[in-house]
Amino acid sequence: MFLKNDKGDNWMKALVTGGAGFIGSHLAERLINQGYEVVVVDNLSTGKMENIQNIRNCKDFTFYNDSVFDYKLLETIVPECNIIFHLAAAVGVKYIIENLVESMRINIRGTEIILELASRYDKKVFIASTSECYGRNNKERLNEDDDALLGSTKIFRWSYAHSKSIDEFLGLAYHKERDLKVCIGRFFNTVGPRQVGQYGMVVPRFVEQALRGEAITVYGDGEQIRSFGHVSDIIDGVTQLMNTEKATGNVYNLGNEDPIKIIDLAKMVKKITNSKSEIIKVPFEDIYGDNFEDIKMRVPDLSKVKSVIDYEPRMKIEEILKSVIASKKSSAK
Ligand code: UDP
Repeated sequence: MFLKNDKGDNWMKALVTGGAGFIGSHLAERLINQGYEVVVVDNLSTGKMENIQNIRNCKDFTFYNDSVFDYKLLETIVPECNIIFHLAAAVGVKYIIENLVESMRINIRGTEIILELASRYDKKVFIASTSECYGRNNKERLNEDDDALLGSTKIFRWSYAHSKSIDEFLGLAYHKERDLKVCIGRFFNTVGPRQVGQYGMVVPRFVEQALRGEAITVYGDGEQIRSFGHVSDIIDGVTQLMNTEKATGNVYNLGNEDPIKIIDLAKMVKKITNSKSEIIKVPFEDIYGDNFEDIKMRVPDLSKVKSVIDYEPRMKIEEILKSVIASKKSSAK
């Protein structure tokens, strides 16, 4: 699929911020395979060069080991691109709790810089947001117009959701007042190859634990519910949304609608890996300290995104786990 430029040419140059990260690198690779020129700006805070090893030597690929705070650099890149995918952000509940100032700065200041430049040079921009913005709204299926129920500012977990909500507000305001072409995707729990467990994400952690024969650590009672989308399905959604005029100026959930309890996820990982690991329950306080709140239920309603693009997540949880397990096994070799 190609985005056309103003002259109708099938030539596109994309800036992907955070393009050496887990989702960003899959997106950059997809764009290269679709014939784009791709420029990645990533300061490798959580991203890794090995994530872009398949594309780093391509003639249409350029990498800058820099942060999105580097206004001067971006001022030279943005005018040369037709489209921007802004994925640079802090990732993982554990990382965010341990890097509070940095996480909020990247979301707020980083996104502000991107929007400012996109607006000045009239470039279409995708902003990666998060289902975290719904906070502890436990509705069975969350739709884009549902309330954000964010806890007190004493609980730092919510700082991420607040700062990402500011990104959404800013993007929508630029669209309303300055005609910026912006599209916002709220990623629900996204998993797949290249995701690491060290920032807290449950699927790579469970898989790594099971493969090593270590205890699989279920936090809390394990009754909390999530839905997991495969990164390739999420990226299908992102690229299609950016190809759809109707999606401009709107916010969309991107994920998978199949719910699963975390305790059942642990059992499934143990079964598929054929692991002897025991499954243990660990209180949240032991991991995140006092003043932590988890989210009981988080599953998207995908009807809005399905009304504008042909979005049908292909990968179910078992298949997703198999793809993560295979990639962990091959990277351990
Ligand atoms: N979780 C868990 N064990 C782990 C890591 C996470 O039980 O080793 C839980 C976590 O508390 C949450 C769910 O799995 O209830 C999903 O966690 P993750 O950090 O992947 O994403 P979240 O949905 O919380 O943003």
